[in-house]
Amino acid sequence: MRDETLCLHAGYSPKNTEPRVLPIVQSTTYVYDSTDDVGAVFDDPTKSLIYSRFANPTVMAVEDKIAALEGGVGAMCTTSGQAATLLSVLNLCKAGDSFISTNQIYGGTVNLFSFTFAQQGIECIFVDANASDEEINAAFKPNTKLVFGETLANPALTVLDIERFARLAHAHNVPLIIDNTFATPILCKPFEHGADIVIHSTSKYMDGHAVQVGGVIVDSGNFDWHSGNFPALTTPDESYHGIIYTETYGKLAYILKVRMQLMRDFGMYPAAHSAFLLNLGLETLALRMERYCQNAQAVAEYLQKQPLVESVTYPGLPGDANHALAQKYLPKGSSGVISLVIKGGKANAVKFMDGLKLASNEVHVADIRTCVLHPASATHRQLTEEQLVAAGIQSGMIRLSVGLESVDDILEDLAQAFAQV
Ligand SMILES: *Cc1c(COP(=O)(O)O)cnc(C)c1O
Repeated sequence: MRDETLCLHAGYSPKNTEPRVLPIVQSTTYVYDSTDDVGAVFDDPTKSLIYSRFANPTVMAVEDKIAALEGGVGAMCTTSGQAATLLSVLNLCKAGDSFISTNQIYGGTVNLFSFTFAQQGIECIFVDANASDEEINAAFKPNTKLVFGETLANPALTVLDIERFARLAHAHNVPLIIDNTFATPILCKPFEHGADIVIHSTSKYMDGHAVQVGGVIVDSGNFDWHSGNFPALTTPDESYHGIIYTETYGKLAYILKVRMQLMRDFGMYPAAHSAFLLNLGLETLALRMERYCQNAQAVAEYLQKQPLVESVTYPGLPGDANHALAQKYLPKGSSGVISLVIKGGKANAVKFMDGLKLASNEVHVADIRTCVLHPASATHRQLTEEQLVAAGIQSGMIRLSVGLESVDDILEDLAQAFAQV
């Protein structure tokens, strides 16, 4: 089935007289006929439900929908995008390991990778997404466990050459993890380009309506874990009566290990009601992404002609540095986020943003309503000057998340705000 259909039907197929709409199973616990039945689920928790700290029917329906949209073998939802990033890395790295990430990633991910992981003894080596193959190869060490990057970086809006990074990662026997939040599987399916694991902040376009924070990890099932690099997947897990994930679960090894081991221990599983709301967002995702792309393309073209604007970054613009990569990886459109640099630095950025009437000032992006944010003083406030430059953020930069209002109203609002600068 195609994306529009999967958005509506994947993950939940009601049978005779069952509810048409995905039910909210608001229960932490499940019942069994006998003590033997309880024992059996502890032997193999994939056979039935145990406890809603790591599995719940409403959440699982949404997981199956997202896995279907990405073309993966399985998925696991988390309470936030940050939790998805954290668990996706911890599933492969322990103290003493290292991994590689591009510089062009979300500010919260930069903090996690460069500070919090360092405190836990996991080293992140950053490389530029446009670095040469030689430079990237030089970042690999014997203890490197994965490579991480973002399809469409928040907020730099660089487009990652996923095929190149997959090739470099695979040459070193490690998987490529892609944060596909801004593109969503509607605009890009990283598994088709060689990525092995995809994560999302579902708080953004997937939810779309700004009603709940969440995340998801999706496994392609394609990576071969047997190089000797990943004993946690290929040798017995003492915390799970000696189970060997690759032997017992084959292609599902990664996604079942993260659920059975890390979700069991850390407990970052979303509530059924949150999954129900996420599902409503997903039902219209394909339709919404199409319109976000149309509106943002029109707004980017308008901004390019606006004299107060120093530069516009939107990969859908023919002159954009990432246009060629966008044509390859985002052929249906470059999503809804534009970054612009206003002349006159922070002072004018603030004047312009405070002058907006329809677009709101929000610490959010990818909402159904148009919103703006000043990254240097908000999401990326904790970054040093050097990290800001590496992430491609200037003081006059504004991140404009184009919503689904009439594009004419959005353009009129921008014009009246420019008039106030
Ligand atoms: C927002 C965001 C995150 C973090 O997700 P939360 O749901 O806010 O925890 C991670 N990656 C990207 C690209 C994001 O935009």
